Amino acid sequence: MAVTRKLRAAIVGAGIVGAASAYFLSRAGFAVQMLDAAAPASGATGSADGAVSVASKRPGPMMEAAIRGVETYRDLHGAGIFEGVFKERSTFMLAQDAAEDAVLEAHAVALSGNGVELRLHREDALHRTVQNLSRAIRSAIEVRGEGHAIGYEVTSRLIAASGATVARGCRVNGFRTASRSGSLDALETSAGTIEADLVVLAAGGGSASLLGLASALRPRKGQLLVTERAPALNAGIRGSLMSCRYLMSKDSTETRMTGSGRRFGLVVDPLRTGQFLIGGTREETAERGTDADAVRRLLVEAVALVPRLREVRLLRTFAGVRTATADGRPLIGRVRGFDNVLVATGFEGDGICLGPLTGKIVSQLARGEPTAIDLSPFDPARFATQEQAA
Ligand SMILES: Cc1cc2nc3c(=O)[nH]c(=O)nc-3n(C[C@H](O)[C@H](O)[C@H](O)COP(=O)(O)OP(=O)(O)OC[C@H]3O[C@@H](n4cnc5c(N)ncnc54)[C@H](O)[C@@H]3O)c2cc1C
Repeated sequence: MAVTRKLRAAIVGAGIVGAASAYFLSRAGFAVQMLDAAAPASGATGSADGAVSVASKRPGPMMEAAIRGVETYRDLHGAGIFEGVFKERSTFMLAQDAAEDAVLEAHAVALSGNGVELRLHREDALHRTVQNLSRAIRSAIEVRGEGHAIGYEVTSRLIAASGATVARGCRVNGFRTASRSGSLDALETSAGTIEADLVVLAAGGGSASLLGLASALRPRKGQLLVTERAPALNAGIRGSLMSCRYLMSKDSTETRMTGSGRRFGLVVDPLRTGQFLIGGTREETAERGTDADAVRRLLVEAVALVPRLREVRLLRTFAGVRTATADGRPLIGRVRGFDNVLVATGFEGDGICLGPLTGKIVSQLARGEPTAIDLSPFDPARFATQEQAA
């Protein structure tokens, strides 16, 4: 009797994207091994806010992907995998001046055009819906059906549910190509050579050197703050508060890949724990420190939005590094020149939202099935590698 062995998938990177790929590939019948240079969720995934948000996405492919991303969270929650990890809640988008009003108005049109449920709150009705908001805020758009999830909790659930093995402290340094042209048969790692039938590159910023894409993938730091618990204040704020400047900081195309200036976009997120997460900055650096100037400015802006936050003590500050692309869209798809290598990287500030959906797409690509979204805007081949550019 012929014994067929399971196909071996090696996943480079155990952040949320690698973990979701492991989950969906193991359900599709692959024997999955994850390799991480450090440990699960030690990259951007472990130092993120956790907005599972359509509201924060640019109209077009990212907004459409985020809608499917939120659905994937709901499906996994329904399946019990994200029980206690994914919290559904609204995002309140707030405009504080005329420039932000214009951004909010245009964004609301794009959201409702994509079928997203919105509600406009004005004056007293707003202050009844969101308590303790500054009286200077006169209107807000509530984006319903959004959620929040902590990246390292999601990652840990997905890895546990996948049954995959995880090699920690195992850095992938290069590839070994097979005698069969167009395919890769092993990874050269700090722990020796590891053979695989399928390779998934989900290494965040580490994908840049592996793919020769250093000019297309750039680090973008974000600083975040976490307060002590303030359950009463937290309970009166039913969703994330997002200043329209957040969209402007994320979106401002003229500063996207250039300059050393930092951008601020305020988000005040009431956590399940009764704490508040306050963010954040966008800075063109891979350095992971926090600094007093940024912390002070974030606190001042948060208190201007919710004056009673001045009674709440700051517990900790931290920073993480996003992996950004020149056009603001991730790379998801086959790596040119190989029939058995997939890449999923470059998620900037959207990978918590899009990570589980991406894992599903990775498994669909591996099995040659139609994908959950059109992948042409995310085609990795839109960026030339250093080799091709030379
Ligand atoms: C401050 C901040 C706030 C954010 N807020 C949000 C938010 O609210 N909502 C949202 O959706 N997203 C948010 N993000 C973005 C989100 O965190 C990332 O997009 C997402 O975590 C990327 O996941 P990943 O798996 O692609 O990469 P990572 O989490 O960076 O994981 C990559 C892994 O690969 C490993 N690795 C790298 N190179 C190698 C190698 N050569 N060999 C082996 N292993 C390697 C690393 O050790 C790492 O563990 C935020 C990010 C930051 C920094």
